[in-house]
Amino acid sequence: MAEQDPRSVAELFAAATNWICEECGTGCEEECGENCKHGCGDWTAVTALHWLGSREVLDEALKLTISDDPRVRARAADILGQLGVPERTFPEECLRTTIDLLSSDTDPRVLGSAAIALGHLPKEPRGTSALVKLVAHDDPDVRFGVAFALAGRADPEAIEALIRLTNDDEDQVRDWATFGLGRHGECDTRKYGRQCTSGSTMMMRTLTSRPSVDWRDAGISESSNVLSKY
Ligand SMILES: [Zn+2]
Ligand SMILES: [Zn+2]
Repeated sequence: MAEQDPRSVAELFAAATNWICEECGTGCEEECGENCKHGCGDWTAVTALHWLGSREVLDEALKLTISDDPRVRARAADILGQLGVPERTFPEECLRTTIDLLSSDTDPRVLGSAAIALGHLPKEPRGTSALVKLVAHDDPDVRFGVAFALAGRADPEAIEALIRLTNDDEDQVRDWATFGLGRHGECDTRKYGRQCTSGSTMMMRTLTSRPSVDWRDAGISESSNVLSKY
C-alpha cells in the first residue's frame, strides 16, 4: 500500500520530480510524451506523499511552486491537491497556494494540475473565481481540469462556465462538464441546503432557456454513464 512506502520524504520528492529517464535519458519527453512508462515523475511517490501529509511534505511541496521547471510546479499542485488523504492536512495552505498557481502561472501543465488539485480541495468561491477565468483556455487539458474542478459547485458563475464547457470541442471536457452539472442532484442538502437547491433550480432554468444545450444530457441518469469512464 502507498501509505507503507519505505522511502524517505526526500527520496519520494526526488522520485516524484525526476524526469531523467532510465530508458530514454533527458529526451524522454519527446520519446514517451507526458506519461512515461519507465517511472519518470513517479506517481506512486506522489501518492505516498499524499498519505504522509505532514508539515515536512507541505513545506517541500511549497518550495516546488517556485521551480523554473513547469513540470515541477505542476507536481507541487499534484501533491498539494490531496495532502493528507483521506482526511486533509493544511487545507488552507493547499488551497491558497493552488489558487495562486492557477491565477499567476502561464504554463498549461501547471494550470491543468492546479485546476485538478482545486477539484480535490474544499470548493470555496475564491477557487471558483480563479477556475472560471480559464474556461476558454487554448489547452484542452486546462479546460478539462476546469470542468473537473467546477463539478458540483452551485455558484452561478460555476454553472455558467460548466454550461459553456458542455459545448467544448473535446469530448472529455464536454462529458465532464455534463457530469458536473448533473452532480448538483447529489449535493449534500443537509450541509449546503439552500445554496444547493438554488443552484439546481438555476441550472435547470438556464439550461432550458438555451436551445444550444441539450439539457437532457445534464441529467443524473446521463452523468452515471459519464462517471463510469473515469
Ligand atoms: Zn521516462
Ligand atoms: Zn521515455
